[in-house]
Amino acid sequence: MQTILFLVLAFLIVIFSVLQYFKSKKTREFKLNEGICPSCGAKARTFYDKNTNTTFKQEVIKSRILKNHGCSGVTEVEYKCNVCGLKEVHQVSSAGCNL
Ligand SMILES: [Zn+2]
Repeated sequence: MQTILFLVLAFLIVIFSVLQYFKSKKTREFKLNEGICPSCGAKARTFYDKNTNTTFKQEVIKSRILKNHGCSGVTEVEYKCNVCGLKEVHQVSSAGCNL
């Protein structure tokens, strides 16, 4: 009886940690897409130049497409933070090919 209880408990812990992992990964991906670093919290900054009346935007997160699997679905995107040097790869599902 005790063994079963232990196994059930271990099973629940595993499921919970997996869910937590995916949740945090999604949050990180969302932040990176917004241009915010999930590690150091740096954001894209905007500067306004009064002399020329223009607004400059300095991005902190740089994204680069690593692999494109074509019509079948996912694209691997590498995000890089200019401030702390964070490097993360996320799989972004594309909308597919519109033929
Ligand atoms: Zn950073």
